[in-house]
Amino acid sequence: MIKIFDTTLRDGEQSPGCSMNLEEKLQIARQLDKMGVDIIEAGFACSSKGDFESVSKVAEVVENATVASLSRATKKDIDIAWDAVKHAKHPMIHTFIATSDIHLEYKLKITREECKNMAIEAIKHAKSYCDQVEFSCEDATRTDIDFLIEMVEAAIEAGATNVNIPDTVGYTEPFEYYKMIKALKDNVKGIDDITLAVHCHNDLGMATANSLAGVMAGANQIECTINGIGERAGNTAMEEVVMALETRYDVYKDKTNIKTTEIARASSLVQTITGVKVQPHKAIVGANAFAHESGIHQHGMLANQQTYEIMTPESVGFTKTNLVLGKHSGKHALRDKIEELGYTISDEELNIIFDKFKNLADEKKEIFDEDIEALMIGEMAKVEGGYKLLDYQTTTSEGKDSKTIIKVSKDDEETEVVGSGRGPIDAAFDSLGKLFGGSITLEDFKINSVTKGRDALGETKIIISKDGSKYSGKGLSNDIIKSSIDAYINAVNHMEYFSERRKEII
Ligand SMILES: [Zn+2]
Repeated sequence: MIKIFDTTLRDGEQSPGCSMNLEEKLQIARQLDKMGVDIIEAGFACSSKGDFESVSKVAEVVENATVASLSRATKKDIDIAWDAVKHAKHPMIHTFIATSDIHLEYKLKITREECKNMAIEAIKHAKSYCDQVEFSCEDATRTDIDFLIEMVEAAIEAGATNVNIPDTVGYTEPFEYYKMIKALKDNVKGIDDITLAVHCHNDLGMATANSLAGVMAGANQIECTINGIGERAGNTAMEEVVMALETRYDVYKDKTNIKTTEIARASSLVQTITGVKVQPHKAIVGANAFAHESGIHQHGMLANQQTYEIMTPESVGFTKTNLVLGKHSGKHALRDKIEELGYTISDEELNIIFDKFKNLADEKKEIFDEDIEALMIGEMAKVEGGYKLLDYQTTTSEGKDSKTIIKVSKDDEETEVVGSGRGPIDAAFDSLGKLFGGSITLEDFKINSVTKGRDALGETKIIISKDGSKYSGKGLSNDIIKSSIDAYINAVNHMEYFSERRKEII
């Protein structure tokens, strides 16, 4: 059995524009648990207050999977990591240190011997708290192989239960990585008694191939993220390695615990929550992954599905039925739909979403999955106690500047401002700039229609920046001016929420 170690909430969240709030992380964690992930890396607890909080909450809600926190190889980091994961049913501390000469010399400024001693001490310290301890040799693929063998052997002796050989910079290629993992399997004492992990980055587009080469050489844990999100070109995509092992069992002779029919749901959840959509031709989960448009293919498919299809859309959870809700659908049907989409919802949240759903159903005849997801996302993106839009008015006419008046409130204090610009949205942003101060820069602004038709919901995504940090906001309405104002205010609320939580704790 190949273990799946998912790092969507840690490595994945480090990618630009992917930061998630607590509620969003919990939704993803529950889906990962439900689909059979073995280990969920929930974050890097000591990096900020917000990370600590989310690792602890994930540890509390996850029922089956092991929950891990990343930690540098220092006592203090490990103490904090343990504090965050200790309430998990199956806790894990994941500690790491770089082992390549380039990192030792320029980043850590320590010798190989010092590096090895730090790792041993860190593992022993982690082990004093927790049975499951993973150790990673950061930048392993650019590490001298003899030193790597020495490090892995020392890690096992110190008590590591899982040892990870990451291709941190996405530099290796399948044949080389195979040889490296094989050399460890052949030379390290005790290696067959621990879990040996591969962790690849996709800088050269080889993350999936490299991970599978590692498995062929004897690795039995793959570290990956949903949709392959992650820094730079991303991490190994979970759906790709899982379906490769599944579809080519004849070659790999091993599988994972993942319920493959949950893949589509997990992918869509992560796309909706992060706002980062996969390209249409993305393997396994792209919109075109199972579309056969050419006439010859269609003819073959009609005669026998297997002529051109190596796996079925159903096997990864794409279903043909798209049960549409309408005006007369009740709360029960709505809850079923929300759960089918992969979300968990409390009774209180259901009441709020149900009211919004009823309002939407009054304006729109048919409600699709995407509309329901958009309502959920809007609800999750809300920040308690932030600014609220009370009212806005806009005037616009050909050849003249538009004017937009915006009224907001916070803690019972109301403020109203007027802005002008080319068109009502430009004028609205002018007002918002006056409201929240000029040091905020608008970095990105996108409007997408959630479904088709003139009554479709418009989803606005905004990224603002202040003092070098970026914050995203979402807005949702049939009226794009309103959804734009809402998105901006939501981004400002996130800025306040995250700047408090981003504070370092050590
Ligand atoms: Zn990584």
